[in-house]
Amino acid sequence: MFDTVETFYRPGTVREALRLLQDGKNRARVVAGGTDLVVQGDRSIRFLIDITHAGLSYVRRRGKACVIGATTSMAALEDSPAIRALADGILARAAATCGSVQIRNMATLGGNLANGSPAADTATPLLALDAEVVLADARGRRKSSLAAFYSGPRKAASGKALLVEVSIPAPPRGGRWSFQKLGRTESDISLVNVAAGLQLDSQGRAKWARIALGAVAPTPLRAVNAEKLLLGRKLDESALAEVCGEAAREVRPVTDVRASAGYRREMCRVLVRRALEECAAQTGCSL
Ligand SMILES: Cc1cc2nc3c(=O)[nH]c(=O)nc-3n(C[C@H](O)[C@H](O)[C@H](O)COP(=O)(O)OP(=O)(O)OC[C@H]3O[C@@H](n4cnc5c(N)ncnc54)[C@H](O)[C@@H]3O)c2cc1C
Repeated sequence: MFDTVETFYRPGTVREALRLLQDGKNRARVVAGGTDLVVQGDRSIRFLIDITHAGLSYVRRRGKACVIGATTSMAALEDSPAIRALADGILARAAATCGSVQIRNMATLGGNLANGSPAADTATPLLALDAEVVLADARGRRKSSLAAFYSGPRKAASGKALLVEVSIPAPPRGGRWSFQKLGRTESDISLVNVAAGLQLDSQGRAKWARIALGAVAPTPLRAVNAEKLLLGRKLDESALAEVCGEAAREVRPVTDVRASAGYRREMCRVLVRRALEECAAQTGCSL
């Protein structure tokens, strides 16, 4: 697979990784778990820079935010008590659906996002949680919203920047959450995935809502019109039907070997409904 690779580096720091990336020009590539990179088999790569020893595997609290190092594995997220406790565990649940046990032991959060796949399972919970990514390059570090980080299909972190950390602000108090995934088999890539967050007022009306969708547009996205439709409404049958219909109109799915665009759109409607119903059920609200 990598018979064209001349040198494999394993830097101990982010600074060293960035220097190697800079020196390697367009022929150097970062590798973390390798579960996407190896499959892609890009024969233009001459230098591989393994960042798994650069001190980026951690889950920490910083102020009110939860911060996750880029090379934290899916298995570590799945098992982390802090991630399981955050937002009804939607990120831990999403991580637990990424491929097999063997894949999850290798696959990293940073790789899942930087790979730029619209179907990345951790992207939707992180979009719903208003997460930010921290990028490092020769000029220093900068923060970006996760939404801005995705610029198009398979276009995420720019060539010379490293994604070093994901930062999740404290979710709204009393909010309830759901992650839904539809794949052909348990360990398959998503045909559609949905993450939702909902906060109801004392009258049972939605006062805050997030609906994020994956595998149904060039990038993971938030269904902002559907979110707006929910605000101030009780989650009854007619509101649910309107909101799910709006979410299905906001997506731009494609037909590929896994599913048709029409099926994906219809499954958006179904999964958004399931997600909102799960959020509502957790608040004790009966529909
Ligand atoms: C059998 C199989 C099943 C899978 N199932 C799923 C699934 O169900 N859901 C899902 O979402 N994914 C799935 N994947 C895809 C893959 O496992 C994930 O996307 C994984 O999280 C990628 O992480 P990695 O560390 O292996 O990335 P790598 O392969 O190491 O890197 C991926 C890309 O990102 C770049 N990169 C990596 N880390 C950084 C960084 N910190 N900063 C900048 N660039 C970086 C690399 O240069 C490369 O271009 C599956 C893959 C396989 C092979």
